[in-house]
Amino acid sequence: LYNFKIILGKNGVPMADNFRLEQSTIADTIQAGQVRVRTLYLSVDPYMRCRMNEDTGSDYLLPWQLSEVADGGGIGVVEESKHSNLAKGDFVTSFSWPWQTVAILDGSLLQKLVPQLVNGRLSYFLGAAGITGLTALLGIKEKGHVTVGANQTMVVSGAAGACGSLAGQIGRLEGCSRVVGIAGTDEKCSILVQEMGFDAAINYKKGNVAEQLRELCPGGVDVYFDNVGGDISDTVISQMNQNSHIILCGQISQYNKDVPYPPPLPPDIEKIQKERNITRERFLVLNYMDKQEASILQLCQWIQEGKLKVRETMVEGLANIGAAFQSMMNGGNIGKQIVSVSK
Ligand code: NAP
Repeated sequence: LYNFKIILGKNGVPMADNFRLEQSTIADTIQAGQVRVRTLYLSVDPYMRCRMNEDTGSDYLLPWQLSEVADGGGIGVVEESKHSNLAKGDFVTSFSWPWQTVAILDGSLLQKLVPQLVNGRLSYFLGAAGITGLTALLGIKEKGHVTVGANQTMVVSGAAGACGSLAGQIGRLEGCSRVVGIAGTDEKCSILVQEMGFDAAINYKKGNVAEQLRELCPGGVDVYFDNVGGDISDTVISQMNQNSHIILCGQISQYNKDVPYPPPLPPDIEKIQKERNITRERFLVLNYMDKQEASILQLCQWIQEGKLKVRETMVEGLANIGAAFQSMMNGGNIGKQIVSVSK
């Protein structure tokens, strides 16, 4: 078996040599309750950057330990089972899947997957039909105050990423009349408009974001799905309407810095937020897992009906997972970044 280990954890930009690939052996036999699985897909996500710090900054995230196998969302197939509910050939998932080609896992910690729900696209369970989709859908439902017929304008930052690309589409499905994305390349912006049904998209690396936003959102911003924080968010918040709502999903522009989460707004922006009564409550998808089952079914239905367009950026091979993580943190992905470990 091959596994991936974390060898350095500190603030700063993640580097290739933060990760090490090793070959090791696995037990020949499994115990009662266990299964042996072959890994199919692994997820790399922004929150993993926090797990590279000794202090993750969050009470629900444990740091990865130096020279221990890293873990995260994963999908695999059962090759041998001594668990009563799981059989050879079952597809299973877990939030704490080890970054290994094969693994022996406690069967009770695995969730069985139904491939038909996603037209056989198993990796969607790590994205649009998994935590990412739940984050977009529940973030909007719990914190967005989107109302059909209210003629609301939604802005999404990190819009071509996994959460963002779904959030814009779901904002529209839930009733927003105008959806504008902010993303890091022209290619991403054109995909958002031509494929994902956004009304417009702004490349934040080109031109003046404030000016373009004013042109594209003439009635101001009513709902802001914030994935990035920092300057982009300050610019959007400055153009938000009275009694509008921020969905505080993530602040990726701040993750390589040693700041508390959520990072405080600069004083002038905080003043605007308070004066205009803009809500900015912390949103954490894990607090809404009682809504997981029904929400996943909703997402799968939208995917099957073609109402939710899904993009993935797939990297092959466990050896490339560190590079895939780095690439995603730098904007190399369109839609969900996935690592395909075996077929
Ligand atoms: P993602 O958006 O697929 O990938 C990250 C993207 O962030 C990159 O593609 C890049 O796109 C953008 N980015 C990187 N650095 C940036 C910067 N300095 N300024 C602006 N954009 C930057 O990742 P994801 O998994 O969907 O996560 C998106 C956000 O949701 C993250 O903040 C994450 O922490 C958060 N999240 C929150 C929850 C929750 O429960 N609240 C759950 C899941 C994820 P560009 O090319 O556009 O720069």
